[in-house]
Amino acid sequence: MDYKSTRDINVKVTAAGAISKGLSADGGLFVPESIPQLSKEALLSMCDMTYAQRAFEVFRLFLTDFTDDEIKNCVNSAYSDKNFATENIAELAHLMSGTYMLELWHGPTCAFKDMALQILPFLLTYSAKKTVDGKKIMILVATSGDTGKAALEGFKDVDGTSIMVFYPEDGVSNMQKRQMTTQEGKNVNVCAVVGNFDDCQNGVKAIFTDDEILKKLEKENTVFSSANSINWGRLAPQIVYYVSSYVQLLKDKEIEYGEKVNVCVPTGNFGNILAAYYAKRMGVPIGKLICASNANNILTDFINTGVYDRNRPFYTTVSPSMDILISSNLERLLYHLTDEDDKLIKEWFDSLKATGRYEVNDTVKSRISELFYAGYCNDDETKAAIKKVFEEYGYLCDTHTAVAYKVYDDYKKATGDNTKTIVVSTANPYKFGYAVYDALGGKKSCGDEFELISELERLTGTTCPKALADTKNKSIRFTGSVKAEDMSGAVLDFLKNQEE
Ligand SMILES: *Cc1c(COP(=O)(O)O)cnc(C)c1O
Repeated sequence: MDYKSTRDINVKVTAAGAISKGLSADGGLFVPESIPQLSKEALLSMCDMTYAQRAFEVFRLFLTDFTDDEIKNCVNSAYSDKNFATENIAELAHLMSGTYMLELWHGPTCAFKDMALQILPFLLTYSAKKTVDGKKIMILVATSGDTGKAALEGFKDVDGTSIMVFYPEDGVSNMQKRQMTTQEGKNVNVCAVVGNFDDCQNGVKAIFTDDEILKKLEKENTVFSSANSINWGRLAPQIVYYVSSYVQLLKDKEIEYGEKVNVCVPTGNFGNILAAYYAKRMGVPIGKLICASNANNILTDFINTGVYDRNRPFYTTVSPSMDILISSNLERLLYHLTDEDDKLIKEWFDSLKATGRYEVNDTVKSRISELFYAGYCNDDETKAAIKKVFEEYGYLCDTHTAVAYKVYDDYKKATGDNTKTIVVSTANPYKFGYAVYDALGGKKSCGDEFELISELERLTGTTCPKALADTKNKSIRFTGSVKAEDMSGAVLDFLKNQEE
């Protein structure tokens, strides 16, 4: 199976090529040239498999240039109870009859990014061996919080790789900052940037194409790579948990084969919900794809009108991982919904770059409204949802999951559709403890995040995951902070240190 660029279908690469390149040189994203199918027999046969075995069944359809042993090594290294707090890797909690919370946060950093970033380092090192043999890989990441820590945990002490993460000095939560600055491992580096997330992102993009740095890198026999969410190596692992949770519902006799299940996803960059679309296209009986946004509701507007317009205010919300105005992975969906019209995709995304806006045609509009429902909620509604879910069902959810729950509730009221539904839960509540505590009416003003953890535990009778609580006793290793224009210097220093 080869992969094509969304902006030029004449560009063709293998899976290893797509994963090691990340992005096509024409600015397009890599997409599989066909969508493999999972038959009834294939799905039923997965019932008695572990998560890693189910992952193997999905990956072998997409990574046809990998050997079975290579894929087995990847899935077994990533999806074991060494890295995840539960043997099932992803848990399906019952909220009420017919509503399930798909908990994707039992990995080492307590957010769903672990589902892909635990396996990406293995996929990437095999891909590099196949495409740029013998070279070392340096991963550069700009993060607004969750991706940075998940990438650090994934790549720490992985042979042949090193990783450097830049985060906005005042743009991440206390817990997120502590998680990153206490990171262990020989091949890791973390640096604050005086500026916002865009400054970090632009700085990293500039370094990727800086001739002087690239020359030095070449001398050290090293290549840059990216772990961000447009890499096919991050999307493929996300398809697995939609396949696996449908299979799990079959196994648990909650549904019969063929019965449709809706999926509701709290969405930012459109990666997670796009993976659900791929699972549906592969033959998993998924009904509506419900797209939930916060006050940055550009996707809600797009799905409802066909107009994508980023000329609007940007809001900082209590669900920061969804504070995004450019949802990069949407490009892949539009490529498929235009029947792979690369010219049209290029036209729309050139227009987005030039004017901040594009409008899709009527065919695509009607295909979108068949597949998707979209809604959003503000911070007050998010907090009210946390309180309601806790009081009615005894289930404590984080801010992002609460957005999904609220939009799902609205969907049911608006449509009367009572199809069984998987609500995707993307982070552990203790990761966004302040907002969760506040939502529950917590009154005490907590001095630091550890006092807050104790208060939240007392108030709810839940327990903070060990991975977060343990950061209290870890020493801070990274205190560096640079101006945006000095990021390249920090990368060169790191490169030098890695050689010593
Ligand atoms: C990244 C993230 C999201 C958004 O996921 P996308 O794939 O970008 O749509 C939602 N919730 C949490 C907790 C996240 O970290």
